Amino acid sequence: MLRVGINGYGTIGKRVADAVRKQPDMEVQGVGKRSPDYVAVNADERDYAVYAADESRADGFREIGIDLAGTVDDLVAESDVIVDATPSGVGAENRPLYERHETPALFQGGEDATVAEVSFNARANYEEAEDADYVRVVSCNTTGLSRFLAPLHENYGVEKARVTLVRRGGDPDQTGRGPINDAVPDPVSIPSHHGPDVQTVFPELDIDTVGLKVPTTMMHVHSVNVTLEERPDDVEDVTELYRNEDRVLTIPDYAGIDGAGTLKDLAQDAGRPRGDIWENCLWEESLTLQGQDLYCMQAIHQEADVVPENVDALRALEGELSSAESRAITNETLGIDL
Ligand code: NAD
Repeated sequence: MLRVGINGYGTIGKRVADAVRKQPDMEVQGVGKRSPDYVAVNADERDYAVYAADESRADGFREIGIDLAGTVDDLVAESDVIVDATPSGVGAENRPLYERHETPALFQGGEDATVAEVSFNARANYEEAEDADYVRVVSCNTTGLSRFLAPLHENYGVEKARVTLVRRGGDPDQTGRGPINDAVPDPVSIPSHHGPDVQTVFPELDIDTVGLKVPTTMMHVHSVNVTLEERPDDVEDVTELYRNEDRVLTIPDYAGIDGAGTLKDLAQDAGRPRGDIWENCLWEESLTLQGQDLYCMQAIHQEADVVPENVDALRALEGELSSAESRAITNETLGIDL
């Protein structure tokens, strides 16, 4: 059993902990938590061993009835591998702690690519993580784009990708984020940083991205245009390609799913934990071929799509299972088959 410590128990960390717990070959050693708040209480109620990230706040945990299992230093020592899910930039500060204990670690997409040896997506470059000690699971948007581009690149060749990312203003618990009444170019400079981030997974791929932020907490939506090297015979061939991808949910026309709201409703009806959608959500009707150009739109649940990728990255570090084998276990245990 691989003992996994989760350092940073927030939006991503709590989801990764629950996903790891469902795996037959892994267990959660414990979670590193900084604040004695409702999320800490929830971790305790879920029977995760809680380790204090900030020793000076240890009394606060005791006051709300949480018996600490130790400090994050102890968690790193007792774990075979750490998933660092702390806020952007904190992961890089934590890396010396993991090195001191010779504990391999995963970092998240908010970190610079330089934090790790490999920027990871299970569908695109699983094998590259097999010899690494430190791996960065790329961001929600880069994960969504990597899953989308990998099969297209393999089958038809991507000459050039152009993507407009309509990004959610914040996660539901980020009460201070916005905008609340605007559509904001973010960043206003073009291209945005998302394209270069995709190139950390596909170094040779030509891609330009543009970003905007809008007043929703639900999902990101990507408007995609890809110029292909080889034209598919029919757009139905492309639709079929994506129907066969395990982490792409192709939305049929009949479903009446017209946006992120109906997608979240579907996930809740399906009994998904926290209403999570781990897959890219690709509108079949939007897939359009014009000459060599493919167009489409997909929605990405920012809180969820990186979760199965973290599980697979843990197995990639272990080096015992292939990408297909790991993804099959992760998909089955999480229930990725809406
Ligand atoms: P979050 O703020 O929801 O959670 C981070 C948690 O880490 C919080 O509980 C915070 O208290 C805790 N923390 C802060 N400093 C700590 C420390 N020194 N040690 C231990 N814990 C500490 O953040 P998040 O949204 O889960 O993001 C985590 C990482 O995942 C970031 O790199 C982010 O860019 C990336 N990511 C986020 C999303 C998303 O949409 N939320 C999607 C993909 C990737």
